[in-house]
Amino acid sequence: MKHSIIIAPLLAVLICTTSCRSLQPTHSAERDVFAMDTFMTMKAYGDGSESALAAAEKRIRELETELSVTDKNSDISRINMANGADVKVSQDTVRLVEAGKTYWQETAGALDISIYPVLAEWGFTTGEYRVPDEATIARLLENVNAGAVKVGDETVRIPVDSMIDLGALAKGYTGDEIMDLFRGNGVTSALISLGGNVQAFGTRPDGSDWRVGIKDPFTPDENMCVVSIADKAVVTSGNYERYFTADDGKTYCHIIDPADGYPADNGLVSVTIIGSEGLQCDALSTALFVMGTDKAQTYLNEHTFVDAVLVTDDARILYTEGLAGKLEIMSDMPSEVIARD
Ligand code: AMP
Ligand code: MG
Repeated sequence: MKHSIIIAPLLAVLICTTSCRSLQPTHSAERDVFAMDTFMTMKAYGDGSESALAAAEKRIRELETELSVTDKNSDISRINMANGADVKVSQDTVRLVEAGKTYWQETAGALDISIYPVLAEWGFTTGEYRVPDEATIARLLENVNAGAVKVGDETVRIPVDSMIDLGALAKGYTGDEIMDLFRGNGVTSALISLGGNVQAFGTRPDGSDWRVGIKDPFTPDENMCVVSIADKAVVTSGNYERYFTADDGKTYCHIIDPADGYPADNGLVSVTIIGSEGLQCDALSTALFVMGTDKAQTYLNEHTFVDAVLVTDDARILYTEGLAGKLEIMSDMPSEVIARD
């Protein structure tokens, strides 16, 4: 009796592992990386998985070296310290700064890569948080203008007193670059998470969709829903990721609204964008967070190439109808579909 109790579950496990294994490719590899100030995990399947993940880690480190705003030798630091002169930079930097300008235009200034001096004044770059006085914010905002950033074939130039930071875009771009490395290199399926930016290469090894959890912004150690995806990125910007509570009792988050220089507080507590390109999802998650409840919904109505899950500060989940059948909601929050015309 005692034995059968132990053997039955054991048999079940054995049957499952043998039958599941027959569906899986023989090779798989995993790699964890700490880079870009965050934990990254990658899992890949296929004959080339080991070497593809080694190449991915190398690429992550290369991009970090180019794009870090704190490393004095990075492209970004050299641009920021150039006193208005042209700076020769890598093609990654050219592409990303160009993308920053495009999304600035595309989002009516909600995404602005030149917001950095304001972000620094609030202490988000050092952890020495403070609420700046209004005059300081107004003065710093005078130099916030991604339109004044000039990009050449191999150079970037910004006005004196301006500074840029690609923190809102870099991980999304890195995800796309890793997907490129997987393509044609013996990887059949893969899932990577770059500090919460999740991106899938193909389907799961058994051909089913990957299931990606989206955090509940009110209790970030729990998922509020799971989205099923293949060949897509899932990128979230949330107020719970980095914030501080000031003496005035208010909580301020790390995404700044370029319209007034204050941490964005326009009705949303998290924005998740689901789409085929990591860079686009990353740019839009930050930008739609800034736009807030109404403008973000209008944007999603006019731009149907991405899907989104928004959470409002009064605890409602709003999602695009493209996710119908792909989104499993576990939360008690009421949910509604963002109607698209
Ligand atoms: P994400 O986590 O992708 O939403 O990006 C947030 C990061 O982007 C912040 O930590 C800042 O470095 C930077 N950032 C904050 N506000 C903005 C903004 N309005 N436009 C562009 N970058 C921003
Ligand atoms: Mg972003």
